[in-house]
Amino acid sequence: MGNVVNLKNKETCIICEKTTTVGIHICNQLICENCQNELIETDVNDDRYKFFIEKLGKLSVKIKEPKIAGKC
Ligand SMILES: [Zn+2]
Repeated sequence: MGNVVNLKNKETCIICEKTTTVGIHICNQLICENCQNELIETDVNDDRYKFFIEKLGKLSVKIKEPKIAGKC
């Protein structure tokens, strides 16, 4: 996972669509701290994980892939 960053401007989380100034950037898309924590805790066999992946589909990456940082 990427590092949590403090943003200068509010950005919209691509999963919950709330605006926040704290989160991680993946492929220039923001995932807020809450969603990041949920993602990590959600089992890949959980239906909610599929929901997350659908939201992340536009990124064309698997969030739990360790190589994610190098894929953009
Ligand atoms: Zn979020």
